[in-house]
Formats: sequence, structure tokens, C-alpha cells
Amino acid sequence: MLNSTVVGRVDVTPELMILQVKPDAGVPPFQPGQYVALGLPGSAPRYPGAPGEAEAPAADKLIKRAYSIGSSPAVGEYFEFYIAIVPDGALTSRLAVVKPGDRLFAQPKVTGTFTLEGIPDDHNLVLVSTGTGLAPFMSMIRTPTTWTSSRKITIVHGVRYPQDFAYSDELNSFVSQRAAFEYLPIASRAPESFSGRKGRVQALFEDGSLQLNAATDHVFLCGNPAMIDDLERDLTTKLGYTVHSKKAPGNLHVEKYW
Ligand SMILES: Cc1cc2nc3c(=O)[nH]c(=O)nc-3n(C[C@H](O)[C@H](O)[C@H](O)COP(=O)(O)OP(=O)(O)OC[C@H]3O[C@@H](n4cnc5c(N)ncnc54)[C@H](O)[C@@H]3O)c2cc1C
Repeated sequence: MLNSTVVGRVDVTPELMILQVKPDAGVPPFQPGQYVALGLPGSAPRYPGAPGEAEAPAADKLIKRAYSIGSSPAVGEYFEFYIAIVPDGALTSRLAVVKPGDRLFAQPKVTGTFTLEGIPDDHNLVLVSTGTGLAPFMSMIRTPTTWTSSRKITIVHGVRYPQDFAYSDELNSFVSQRAAFEYLPIASRAPESFSGRKGRVQALFEDGSLQLNAATDHVFLCGNPAMIDDLERDLTTKLGYTVHSKKAPGNLHVEKYW
């Protein structure tokens, strides 16, 4: 049942962690933007002080949830995930205490249509995330084929507090290496003293920081469903965007985490 091993863990904050997981069978082929299900049995320990569970899961039953892959397929050894610990979450209250060497379940089949498949090389990418919704975009920009010679890539990362800006060193190093890359971090609950952008992701669309052209710019939205609903409504009604699906390809790609 448990077919993978934790090989790395970085605690970004007490509620946010980066986890590296090595499947026994090796990392299968996948496309940046896809996800796998991770799982632990009900018997796995929860973090100390976790709130009681209304209905305790059966000890031998796997609790499984979807997680976007944050690593590039070029990293053959392990998957990387960026995970928010939900205090009373069934799985994440257990993932909160895993450490290198621990075993867990990783679904052998990688799935998802939140990918760059079919997007012309000369179309720009506007990758908009809240919280851990940054993960699929890390996979995309860590993958060399994403960087075509004629496209601009923008990453928007909305968080609550400035300490939640995971991957900011890596993203800033992309900024210094790539002229066609823009990184727009924005924090909604930053203290007065914070000198960066303050507010919600939606504000960047309203104040003109992000100018979109539906003919050339593909927009990807990932994370908090309220952010996605707001922007989906605005981009489809005001800017002529159409939501992408496998059957009906469009230029607005959405991945809601809950
Ligand atoms: C396609 C897909 C990809 C996903 N990828 C990621 C990922 O890369 N990283 C990640 O952290 N989560 C991701 N999620 C969410 C993840 O699957 C779980 O829902 C989440 O970890 C909570 O599981 P849980 O069992 O601890 O909580 P549950 O007991 O299932 O409680 C669910 C509740 O937790 C809250 N919640 C869920 N996800 C988050 C979150 N990310 N941040 C804050 N609150 C949340 C919501 O209120 C939700 O109703 C993804 C979801 C989908 C559908």
C-alpha cells in the first residue's frame, strides 16, 4: 500500500512545507502542471495538539488527496510538492509530521489537464497563484521547454503574509537570468513595514499592473477557488477569455484546490 519514501522536507513556515517523495517504481513521465494523489493510512500519527476528528478514519484505510507536482519531469528521482497544512485536515494533519525516511502512498498514475499542451510557442503565459497554487507553475518554469524564444512568462503569487513567499529566491534568480520573465509577489495581510506589493491578486488586474491580450496571452489560475471565481468572471466577461477544457480548448486554464 505504501509505495514511496519521503526523501526531503523543507518547512517554509509552520503551516507550509515542501516535500520530496521518491516512488519505489521511479518517477513516471508527466507534464508540468499535472498532479498525483498522496495518501497515508488513518493509523498514521497526527501533529501534536491536532483538533479531535469528528469521525476517525479506519486505521487501515488510505486517506488520499490530490497534489500538484512542483518539480520538473527532468528531475527523474523524486516528485516535489508544496503543501499547506490545514489544521483540521484529514490528510495534512498527518502529513504535517512526516520526515525523511517515512513511507507514504503516491498514486502511480499522474493526471490533470492543467498543462501547456497545445499552447503555441509564441503565446505568453500569465501564471496566477494563491498559496500552494504556485506548485504547478514551479514545475512549468523549471522545465526548459517552457522557455521558448518568443514568449513572456509572468508569475503572480498571492499570499497572506510575506513569510509565505515560498520559492522567492529561486523565482528572483529566474528574474535575474531571464529578460522575458516577471515575478509579481503580493501579500494580503502584510504589516505596515512591508515594502512589497500589498493586497489581493485580483488588484493586479484591476490597477493595470497586468495588461492582458486574449489573442496572445494564456492565463492560468491555480489555488483558492474564490480568487479563481473572481478572475474567471472578469476575464471571460470583460476581456473575451474562454475557459479551457480538453474538448473545447481555450485561453483561460483553471485548477481549483477546493
Ligand atoms: C487538482 C488538485 C491539486 C491540488 N494540489 C495541491 C497542492 O499542490 N498543495 C496543496 O497544499 N493542496 C493541494 N490541493 C488540495 C489538497 O488536495 C487537499 O484538499 C488539501 O491538502 C487538504 O486536505 P486535508 O485532507 O488535509 O483536508 P480536508 O479534511 O479534506 O479538508 C479540506 C478543506 O481544507 C481546505 N484546503 C484545502 N486545500 C487547501 C490549501 N491548499 N490551502 C489552504 N486550505 C486548503 C479547504 O477549506 C477544504 O475545504 C489540490 C487539490 C486539487 C483538486
